[in-house]
Amino acid sequence: MKKYGIMGGTFDPIHFGHLVIANEVLNLFDLDRIIFVPTGTPPHKTSKGLTTSYHRYMMTQFATMTHPFFDVSDFEIRNDEISYTIDTLQHFRDSYPNSKFYFITGTDAVLELSTWKDPEGMLKIFTFIAVNRPGYVIENLDDKLRELADRYNGEIYAVNAPQLQISSTDIRNRISNGRPIKYLLPETVELYILKNRLYQKSER
Ligand code: ATP
Ligand code: MG
Repeated sequence: MKKYGIMGGTFDPIHFGHLVIANEVLNLFDLDRIIFVPTGTPPHKTSKGLTTSYHRYMMTQFATMTHPFFDVSDFEIRNDEISYTIDTLQHFRDSYPNSKFYFITGTDAVLELSTWKDPEGMLKIFTFIAVNRPGYVIENLDDKLRELADRYNGEIYAVNAPQLQISSTDIRNRISNGRPIKYLLPETVELYILKNRLYQKSER
């Protein structure tokens, strides 16, 4: 049975924080592959201000292409409709039968689980992996995760990965303020951003 990790995000832009947690989970859970899924228009972020799906998808491709077990899916960006994580997970389950799926999130994202569409359905079918995120130190995290897992009758693992205090928001702000982004994200992505003049003040 194959084991897949699903890593969803806006990836606007993708950075080393995303890549290091994906690689750590791949190793810790002995997964076969990690599938990065850039979101289309996520329900909790307005489409205004979000970089086009095309650029976010391309940056995710560039960031992951040197890793033999990282893949990128265009499932959520293919259609214009709002995509919900549950639909994405079900799509992968249908596409790869006889496989086990793990959904990877940072601790900030997993604690919003109750606001997602059908959390019970998600946890019934998929195992969640919550990775510590610096800057989001949460008191009694283990209790909170256990409470969520009990409420929705599923499994949530808490994982520690090397902590990188990097966020896409900070990278976007740095670019628009002319501050450096080097060493926060892969060089290919940095060059792609420069070439396409993404996140410049005049454009936002
Ligand atoms: P933004 O600032 O635009 O929200 P972000 O850096 O939070 O961007 P997302 O695309 O929103 O990136 O995050 C995708 C997933 O990666 C989420 O589950 C988030 O918790 C996780 N994540 C992002 N950055 C880190 C990090 N530095 N360490 C651990 N997890 C992270
Ligand atoms: Mg975020």
